Order: sequence, then C-alpha cells, then structure tokens
Amino acid sequence: MTKTRVIVVGAGIAGPVLAVFLKTRGYNPIIYERLPGPGEGGLSFMLQPNGLRVLSLIPEFVEQIQGKSPDKIMHCSSLDGKEDILADFDVSPHSMRENFGFPMIGVRRSEFQKLLIDTAEKHGIEVKWGHQAIGFDQSEDAVEVTFANGVKDTASFVVGCDGLHSNTRTALFGKEKADFTGLTQFGGLSPTPPALRGKLVLLNNYANGRHMVTYPVADDKYSWAITTREAEVKEDWKTQSVEQQDKIRGGPLSAWGFGAGDLIKTGERIVKYGLYDRPELKSWFKGRVVLLGDAAHPTSP
Ligand SMILES: Cc1cc2nc3c(=O)[nH]c(=O)nc-3n(C[C@H](O)[C@H](O)[C@H](O)COP(=O)(O)OP(=O)(O)OC[C@H]3O[C@@H](n4cnc5c(N)ncnc54)[C@H](O)[C@@H]3O)c2cc1C
Repeated sequence: MTKTRVIVVGAGIAGPVLAVFLKTRGYNPIIYERLPGPGEGGLSFMLQPNGLRVLSLIPEFVEQIQGKSPDKIMHCSSLDGKEDILADFDVSPHSMRENFGFPMIGVRRSEFQKLLIDTAEKHGIEVKWGHQAIGFDQSEDAVEVTFANGVKDTASFVVGCDGLHSNTRTALFGKEKADFTGLTQFGGLSPTPPALRGKLVLLNNYANGRHMVTYPVADDKYSWAITTREAEVKEDWKTQSVEQQDKIRGGPLSAWGFGAGDLIKTGERIVKYGLYDRPELKSWFKGRVVLLGDAAHPTSP
C-alpha cells in the first residue's frame, strides 16, 4: 500500500519533530526548508519538562540532547545599582524529575536544530534545503505546493511549520497586521562570567524597566536575553553589525551586578529583535493544509 505523502514546510523546530512522528506512524513525510542549510542562527532555548515529555516519544532522543540543566532559579534586583536577591528556588534535575518527570535543559538553538534534523534524516526523511514555499493549491484529494525556485510538489496533506512569517498561514487566512508591543529584546552567548562559575543558575535580573534572563547552555557558556523598551526593530534573529554589538557591550548595562554586566561585555553573536503581537486564529487548518508551531500560535517570549 502506498504511504500517505505529507509535505512539511520548514525545518526549524516543529518541522523535523512532526516529520519524525508522522514517519513512525506510517506516513511518508518530506521536509522543504527555505534556508540553504542548517545555520548558526539564534541563541538558545530552555527546554521545559512538558516539551521533553513530547520529545521522549522519539526513542533515545532526549539522551542525545547537549545542554545544561540549571539547579536553581534566582530572581534578583539591580534597581538603581542596588543589588538584592528577591527569591530563589530549587529546580535541580532530581527535584524536577520527581515533580514533573523531566528536568529543564538549556540548549543552543543551532545544536538542538541540527540534532532534530539528523534524527529526521536517520528516520529516512528527506530534507530539501533552499526551497521557499510560496503557493498552495488545494484540490479535493491533494495539495500542490509551489516553491520560489520554480519547483512544484504534490502531497495528500501539507503542514506549515514555517514560523513567525509563515507563507502557509498567509495563504490560508490572508495577511495579518503584527502589532509592535513597544518591547525589544537583545541577547547573546557569553563565556561563563566569574560570578557564575561553578554554578548552574537560571538568573532573572530586574533593573529600571529592564529584565534579563540568563542560563547555562554548555560547561563554559551562558545564554542571555534582555527585554527593554526601545524604538521598533524588525522581528528577525539576525546578528547585529560589529558596531552595534560593540555599542551594546560597552553600554550602561555592562555595569549590572550578579555577573550580568560581564555577560554583556563579553557577548558573542549579539542579536536584537522586536516583539510583536498577532491576532489569534480561530482554526489552525483549512482543507488539507494545517499549521503547527509559531505558524499557528506565535507568542511573545
Ligand atoms: C533563525 C532562527 C533563530 C531563532 N532563535 C531563537 C532563540 O534563540 N530563542 C528562541 O526562544 N527562539 C528562537 N527562534 C524562534 C523559535 O525557533 C520558535 O519560536 C519555536 O522554536 C517554534 O518553532 P517553529 O518550528 O514553529 O518555528 P521556527 O523555529 O521559526 O522555524 C521555522 C522554519 O521555517 C522556515 N521557513 C520559513 N518560511 C518558509 C517557507 N516559506 N518555506 C520553507 N521554509 C520556511 C524557516 O527558515 C525556519 O527554519 C528562532 C527562529 C529562527 C528562524
């Protein structure tokens, strides 16, 4: 019997996970990705127990995740230069497993995405890079997808896992207005600063209208992101120019306490992006085309 063919649009996070689940349930998925190959884009994720529970349905996957589990969450204040610990609590892998079944794991996005793509390929799923889906033509029993390079492909179903700027979503429900929240985020990856050496802390730092979150993603690396009110910037994950990065590294936030200032001063690959709100969809599918991940329900971090 021929297996039902499914086109998965996007090889970010949701795409490869879905493709593996489809394959193990007897479908024949193929992934099409706009980018030319797996990139170094973005910073990190703090994988939560509920996400790891889903990923644990892929045999031996969770064990391969490279990252760091924090053992403590701290909330600190650096208001007007005065440093205070507001609260801290235990999130050690042992207590998280006991309470929620899984730990939290801080991972670099690029490494995690590569692991997902390798896993999909090991399951015999083809990933076609450099294919940006631009057209979706539905008939009673199939969907034809057109790509920007002129290629066309047909499948019984299409799942749009094409993220925040989803062409699949636009094709189904039209163009929507994204409202700038007035908040921007910038962040980077930095060597573990002296104040955090030997500690595995997920640290929240609050100071004069700004919030920083930072957590370890490797033995010698912390990832961090700062939310602040600033002029509108595009919502992409592109690394800032050398001059822009230098300005952030040398800016007033580099004096923050609890190791936060050192993280900013030594930040590598600093990215900056605006935070936007989009209207909630009443449905995540139309006919044979379904949305998943950020394409279906983008949320501000
Ligand atoms: C480069 C990048 C870096 C990111 N870095 C971070 C981060 O550091 N921290 C964080 O919390 N979140 C980050 N995000 C967002 C995060 O990955 C998502 O919020 C979340 O993981 C949901 O995953 P997703 O698969 O729905 O979307 P995404 O992870 O955004 O994946 C969507 C994929 O679809 C591809 N795509 C888009 N349009 C098309 C098209 N028309 N045809 C084919 N392919 C298409 C994109 O190139 C991308 O690979 C990043 C997203 C991107 C794209």
